[in-house]
Amino acid sequence: MSQISSTRLARMLDVSRELNSTIGLDALLKKIINEAASLTNAEAASILLLDPYTRELRFKATTGEMLAELADTSVPLDKSIAGTVLTTNEPIIVNDVSKDPRWNPRISKTLNFPTGSILGVPMHDVIRPVGVLEALNKIDGDFNEDDVAILSILADLAGVAIEKARLFAELQQANQQLNELDRLKSDFIAVASHELRTPLSIILGYVTYLREDADPDSIRQLDRVLRAAVRLRNLIQDMLNLQYVDAGRTSLEKIPVDLAPVVKTLVAERNEIFLTKEQTVKTIIPDDPMSVLVDRNMLQVIFNNLLDNASKFTPEKGEITITLERHGDEVWTIIKDTGIGIPEDQLKRIFNRFYQLEPHLRRQYEGMGLGLAIAKELVELNRGRIWADSVMGEGSQFYIAFLSYET
Ligand code: ADP
Repeated sequence: MSQISSTRLARMLDVSRELNSTIGLDALLKKIINEAASLTNAEAASILLLDPYTRELRFKATTGEMLAELADTSVPLDKSIAGTVLTTNEPIIVNDVSKDPRWNPRISKTLNFPTGSILGVPMHDVIRPVGVLEALNKIDGDFNEDDVAILSILADLAGVAIEKARLFAELQQANQQLNELDRLKSDFIAVASHELRTPLSIILGYVTYLREDADPDSIRQLDRVLRAAVRLRNLIQDMLNLQYVDAGRTSLEKIPVDLAPVVKTLVAERNEIFLTKEQTVKTIIPDDPMSVLVDRNMLQVIFNNLLDNASKFTPEKGEITITLERHGDEVWTIIKDTGIGIPEDQLKRIFNRFYQLEPHLRRQYEGMGLGLAIAKELVELNRGRIWADSVMGEGSQFYIAFLSYET
């Protein structure tokens, strides 16, 4: 049993701390080989890592600058010292490599480093072998059991640190890919919605113009075109609003807004939508001001999305009620409908982007599943809360709460 001196153990503790705080793989490998050489009193050291995909052992770092010819050179698992260390999972001391048939003199030549002795130990992460750590040319005599013990401890620490660095690099790469995908998606939505908007305004303009002098039969046909075009415009508006949410943090302009007149105006503006379905709209608004600190444009998008849904998912002759109420230090806007309702287990998911209760291929309601997601993201940008409750077949209630603003 070897006795490692307390100075060496204290040094190991420092090394362990250092390895733990190093995240870049190259810097980490450099530190490990420097410590390996210094702790075993060797002239040099090197690291070979097992490629998890090809199962080949490759040089990853050597003392001094790693030579291009050696970088990533594959070492056979069955006919090399490092390969034996890895496959047997045991340390090996070779005090004269020239007598060992597994030694490949070409590596010494490439490195321009005459190798005499080698101590190789396996490196593991938590469960698997990940590579081999080698110390080369013991300066004073032969490698001994102490060297094996100390290099094995270093190799264990190094294995875990290397795995951590690898995972971190993978995570960073995955994150970069996600950001790139997200940017591509945003660019696509921006370009698509912009490109669709221009021809659509031409269609809307011409249909409205043709409608003016048309006979009643043509008006009926043109109205169908008009309705389809308006529907398309709403979808495009959702896509544009999505961009608005993504840019929201930078464009947020909060001002004190009294909700009472805002609700009344929006209801009046959407009157036609309610009229076509003969729906009744009621507002219950107290007399005193109901002010909150929000971005006015965002507030309009939020309310419009909820009012559109209330009308869309409520049958003809149904009822929609908008109530403003004070609750503690908050003002609540409650939009209640007598529509189809939402199952209890879906009440949270409806706020996810592109989430719809109806299966896509059997949809009877138009929409892209963006309205509520946009509403929620905008409410939260304004430090508010939004949630829903519902009774299937009887109707739903959507609540939006903002901190009240007292002057
Ligand atoms: P969509 O554009 O499909 O309406 P939303 O994000 O606005 O997208 O809504 C998501 C889904 O939530 C809708 O497809 C619908 O299934 C459900 N939903 C939203 N509002 C209501 C409501 N007032 N009554 C019943 N279901 C609703």
